[in-house]
Formats: sequence, structure tokens, C-alpha cells
Amino acid sequence: MTIITDPRCTEYAAPGHPERPERVSRTVDLLKSRTQLPISWQTPAAAQDSVLLRAHTQRHLHRLLAPEDFDGDTPAHPHIAEHARRSVGGALRALAAARAGETAFSLLRPPGHHATPERAMGFCYLNTVAIAALEAQEGGCRRVAVFDFDVHHGNGTEEILLDQPGMAFFSIHQHPCYPGTGRTNRGGNCFNFPVRPATPRADYRAVLARALEQLKAFRPELVAVSAGFDAYQGDPLAQGTLAREDFYWLGESLRALQVPAFSILEGGYSDDLPELILAYLSGLNGWTL
Ligand SMILES: [Zn+2]
Repeated sequence: MTIITDPRCTEYAAPGHPERPERVSRTVDLLKSRTQLPISWQTPAAAQDSVLLRAHTQRHLHRLLAPEDFDGDTPAHPHIAEHARRSVGGALRALAAARAGETAFSLLRPPGHHATPERAMGFCYLNTVAIAALEAQEGGCRRVAVFDFDVHHGNGTEEILLDQPGMAFFSIHQHPCYPGTGRTNRGGNCFNFPVRPATPRADYRAVLARALEQLKAFRPELVAVSAGFDAYQGDPLAQGTLAREDFYWLGESLRALQVPAFSILEGGYSDDLPELILAYLSGLNGWTL
């Protein structure tokens, strides 16, 4: 499989912020320690403005260069626009690998699914997954599904892809929870699966399975996955109940679709994040846990 990462994505941090550099650096260390795994490592390419502007306004790209924080969760770290562009570049490289028939994961920060056309929020600056989905469409994919299993609703992705022909968005998330959206479906193509806080694990998994069934019925040519690992029972930011095996199962279920797919890292804030990602990638590739 192809994994895209870059050590520069660990060069920014805010004291006490859960979205911290170790999320990526510890995951890279774990994956590299498993020398038997057939992983080809790549670095992200730079994303061009024309690609970003399919999802965002020029004003937003300009705002990302200003040194004022976007909100309490989303600091204006030095060079954050470059970090966010590199995260998009990772998704584009993952998309290319998927279209070449490989499994692919972009292991970079910052995450993206909360970023709207005009606003950075919720630790997100550019909407990586939506940009990559739109690029896939531009490259000839007629039916693109975005599957978002982060515990938070992908509000930015929904706003960007709402009623876009050939696109469907499926989000499974805790509600009520940040950012408060995603209670019902929107438009003809955004399907939301809210899950109550502390829903028993088997029920949470049944909702994920239902979302996957609907995704399958959409008959996508390509699946872009917003892979967030914060629905985990040990995550500090929400009251999800999933276990490590459930992330393996998610990977396995996506593999079973037999449709080209790529995944990008969204949230996931527990110290077990590296093991959760390894479990997901194992399911995705048919590796034994
Ligand atoms: Zn999240």
C-alpha cells in the first residue's frame, strides 16, 4: 500500500491542543517498526490554487495567510497555509495511487473535514477530502462517494459537496456533539447518520453498516474516506464506543466493496491512535492483525 506523509507536518503545535504532532510521528514510528508490512512511503506534492479554488474562495486562501486565530480551536499557526496545502497534496497523491489500483492513506495534519468554503474551524483549514473528491471528478470519475467515519459531522465537506452532481456524502457521527450539524440528510446527496453519545458499541457498528449499505447502493466508482479515529471508546473528545477491532472491520468492509478507495487522516486524539490506524490499514489491505 501507499502511505503519504511528511515530517514537516509535525512542525507546528499549540500547548495543550489535542491535535498534536505526536498523532502522526508516533503512527509513523509504529508503521515503520512493522518492517514486514508492504508499505511504499511517499511525500505529498504541492497543491495548486486552481485545485483548492474548486472548494474554497480566494478570500479564504488569503485569510489563511493572516496571523489571527480563526477560533479558539483553530489557531493561526506559523505557515499553517503551507501545512494545509501539503495535507491536500497528500490526499491528491493518495487519489492518484487509488486510481492506479493501490490502497492509499494520507497520514498528515492538519485534518480538513470541518473547513467550509470560507472558514477554517475545528482544527481544519482546507477541506482536503472535498478537494480530492472534486479533483477525482475533474479527472473523469463520474460517481464519487465520500465516507466520513470521524465522530464529528463533516460539516465543511457537506457544504462543499451539497447537491454536486455525481457526488454523495455519507457521515456517521455523534449527535449532539461539535459542530452541531448533521442531524438530518441535506439536499439530494448528503446522508447523515447521527449516533447518540455513549450508544452501545454493537448499535454504533450497525449504523456504520447501514451507511455502508447506502454507499454501496450509490454505486461509486471511487470512495474517498475521511478516516477519523475519535469514535474510539478511549478518545477524550467524544463519547464514542468503538473498539480497535471495529476500525479493522471498517477497513475490511471498505475492501469488500472492491471499488478504488483512498483514505485521509481526520481526527483521533487518544494515545492509542497509532494502533487504531494500524488496525484500519490491516483491514483495508487484508493483513492479519
Ligand atoms: Zn473528529
